[in-house]
Amino acid sequence: MKKELISIVVPCFNEEENIPLFHQELDKQTKKMKELSFEVLFINDGSQDGTLEAMRSLAKKDKRVRYVSFSRNFGKEAAMYAGLKHAKGDYVAIMDVDLQDPPSLLEEMYRSIKEEGYDCVAARSVSRHGYSFLRKVFTGWFYKIIAKISSVEMVAGARDFRLMKRKMVDALLEIGEYNRYSKGLFSFVGFDTKWIEFENQERVAGTSKFNFPKLFAYAMEGIVGFSTMPLVISAFIGVLFCLVSFIAIIVIIIKTLIWGDPVSGWPSMVCIMFFLSGIQLFCTGIMGEYMAKTYLEAKRRPIYIVKETEEDLACED
Ligand code: UDP
Ligand code: MG
Repeated sequence: MKKELISIVVPCFNEEENIPLFHQELDKQTKKMKELSFEVLFINDGSQDGTLEAMRSLAKKDKRVRYVSFSRNFGKEAAMYAGLKHAKGDYVAIMDVDLQDPPSLLEEMYRSIKEEGYDCVAARSVSRHGYSFLRKVFTGWFYKIIAKISSVEMVAGARDFRLMKRKMVDALLEIGEYNRYSKGLFSFVGFDTKWIEFENQERVAGTSKFNFPKLFAYAMEGIVGFSTMPLVISAFIGVLFCLVSFIAIIVIIIKTLIWGDPVSGWPSMVCIMFFLSGIQLFCTGIMGEYMAKTYLEAKRRPIYIVKETEEDLACED
């Protein structure tokens, strides 16, 4: 009987040191799962270092290794999408190359799908060990907010690390949207997902590729992509201020009629103007975010552009 194939999708951006380490660890794990065959699909997300060379040399040595190399950096979301698209497996796993997603969990994930009938098994880190204090605080806030306002279920500490059945992968590929927030999309497509918890690991080598502006953009992607609550809030603020101004008008009219108090209160007027202009710009900004996303979506630009794959390597030989 033909063995079932598991594809492991691994997005990489400037990760030359991590690729061989990841391959080694994964190799140890796959040796324990002999009833299955594997393919490792590295995605080179426009790296500037020796990442592509590392992928090429592994692909030459190990036939299970494939790679897709982008023409520039398109971001981890694009890399994951490309991985799902190129993967041939009956099951597909997504893993970070920095070994923060332990390959040892793969076996448990596969068993849960096979024996307990789940469609997907996803990992959730219960600690944020290895990340800076500020990042831990902001990430904590972000997950609390998005869990409350999002239209789909968002699990705190959820990683992109998961093993999925082909059916779920195909469902994800059906969603061709440009502004991708996978953690939301995994929830959106549904299917039975089991969560397994683990302690967060530190990166084996290199540094995090997500700096503050990138994380902020990622958070906005999640909020704008899966909630219209900010629009509702800005409309609510508008109504609230109308009510306040209505009350203020009545108070001023009464005051003028009783005490005939003509032109006082210039400083308070200026403060109110600044305050209201601030609120207005803030609400316009929120609207702008949604419009910008719609604009980008309407252009239907490709999510990623491929420059090279392991098949080009075969042609060279
Ligand atoms: N990554 C990517 N493109 C990017 C940024 C990151 O493919 O633009 C990859 C990166 O190489 C790693 C994974 O996404 O395999 C997670 O990135 P990182 O470890 O830097 O994120 P963190 O663990 O700090 O959230
Ligand atoms: Mg990492």
